[in-house]
Amino acid sequence: MAPITKKVQQMKEDGIPKVHKVSAQLELCCGYGLCNQACPEIYKLNPDGTVYLETDTVPDDLLAAAIEGASCCPAQVLTVEVM
Ligand code: SF4
Repeated sequence: MAPITKKVQQMKEDGIPKVHKVSAQLELCCGYGLCNQACPEIYKLNPDGTVYLETDTVPDDLLAAAIEGASCCPAQVLTVEVM
């Protein structure tokens, strides 16, 4: 189980409201576009193929896709965290 999934599960068990945030080290993005394929609602692409974020808040219904998109980035640009 991925660490973020464990943390989310623990917070659910504890009844703690959770907010998921995504951040990006944009200077590391190489424009592979894999994140966009996994979660186009969160990971948008510039015309040159590099990523940008319209929002840093991840809705619950997109959490799994957002984590998948971050996990598949070969440049480790993206991080999804529980705040
Ligand atoms: S997968 Fe990573 S390197 Fe590729 S566009 Fe997304 S953030 Fe950039």
